[in-house]
Amino acid sequence: MTTDPLRIALISEHASPLAGVGSVDAGGQNVYVDHVARELARRGHRVDVMTRRDDPAQPPVTALAPGVRVLHLAAGPARFVPKEQLLPFMPAFVESAQRLAGRGGYDLLHANFFMSGWVGMALRERWRVPLVTTFHALGRVRQEHQREADRFPPERLDIEQALVDRSDRVLSACPQDEQDLQRLYGAHPSRLVTVPCGVDTEALTPGPRREARARLALPQDEFIVLQLGRLVPRKGIDNVVRALALLQTQAGARASRLVVVGGESDTPDEGATPEIGRLRSLACALGVGDRVQFTGRRSRSALVDWYRAADVFVTTPWYEPFGITPLEAMACAVPVIGSAVGGVQWTVVEGRTGFLVPPQDPAALAIRLAQLRADPQLAEALGRAGVDRVRSRFTWSQVAWELEGVYRSVLAERASASKTWRERGRAPLRSIQPTALPSGTATGVAAAAAAGVGA
Ligand code: UDP
Repeated sequence: MTTDPLRIALISEHASPLAGVGSVDAGGQNVYVDHVARELARRGHRVDVMTRRDDPAQPPVTALAPGVRVLHLAAGPARFVPKEQLLPFMPAFVESAQRLAGRGGYDLLHANFFMSGWVGMALRERWRVPLVTTFHALGRVRQEHQREADRFPPERLDIEQALVDRSDRVLSACPQDEQDLQRLYGAHPSRLVTVPCGVDTEALTPGPRREARARLALPQDEFIVLQLGRLVPRKGIDNVVRALALLQTQAGARASRLVVVGGESDTPDEGATPEIGRLRSLACALGVGDRVQFTGRRSRSALVDWYRAADVFVTTPWYEPFGITPLEAMACAVPVIGSAVGGVQWTVVEGRTGFLVPPQDPAALAIRLAQLRADPQLAEALGRAGVDRVRSRFTWSQVAWELEGVYRSVLAERASASKTWRERGRAPLRSIQPTALPSGTATGVAAAAAAGVGA
């Protein structure tokens, strides 16, 4: 297998590595693309991140780090558009990529999310290169959990199916994701590889809690429960508020406080982030309005203090394709209580780095919170084990090393397939035609774009 540097296009239509993170449409995928691009470049590769231009001030090409460029592709209006409305602009995204990148020159395309996958299928046809897909979230899984709330167009499922059937590799983020891809899409195990997300173990390290609390003006004597992430209902933050209310009923224990970091703005604004209003009303109704503190969104450079300040990190989503935040807490030596779903049940080791509880079960969560509040030594031991776990398994450099292995094996397969066909004196196997997308998808997308849907 060759070790030559690769030219890689990371397609991430709605999630730019340059975006502020923590709002509804900017979270784990932005963080993933940012770190993966940088780490691949550190390994000597050249990476272009292709993302949609959503601000007129963005130049077509921006340098992100040595060896990494962000290409801002014109596709739809140059302003924020909710990701549920972006599919009609994908044909324009493909044309823009072609205009900016010309004949490509890439060795491989790595698409992130189903719309980038659609783009990837079209571009690989033009550029004759392999396609690797990471979904980050799956429509059928989402449907199982939030049927009414899913506002993505119905074509999503067909596109995902086409990607599962036709990508050179599909990357699952965790064992549960791998099972879902097989159970719901019939993915063939030979083309599935699990490569997790990582955590920034240089920026997120353990440190004195007392000093972090002093810097954040948080009380030194309270038991602080941290919830950090995008504020969307599926993250189950109401479950944490309910558990806190149960915890408060225990007489004689240390006062507890729930700190909620995330939202659409840097201040906790209910107008910008309706979920804050909903959670506040719930906390007030349960008599813990003064025990729940919302901070608004925080930049990634500020996160380390919020993690270090916490006695425990809690994340109890209904489902979770991966979940980077538990790893971030573990990197800072904070024990994690997570729901036993998706990636969380893989990254958090029950009884060793934290505890797993059923989702939407505030009583079970309250029992574990009370246990850690009563036993700081146990909490400390779980936190220490968390640091070991992330450093040995979930660093971004390890993730990039695994990705490179996948890319190289796909390229080796392609090379040997064309050699075989050449030896037989026939044209090499062609990859899929753009028109081979599920019937109605391509035309539906094009027609919607022509009609300006979602503009
Ligand atoms: N995040 C942030 N600031 C905030 C809230 C969240 O930087 O105010 C980051 C958080 O640190 C994590 C990402 O957003 O890196 C959320 O990723 P995760 O995988 O946990 O959830 P997803 O967004 O994929 O649902």
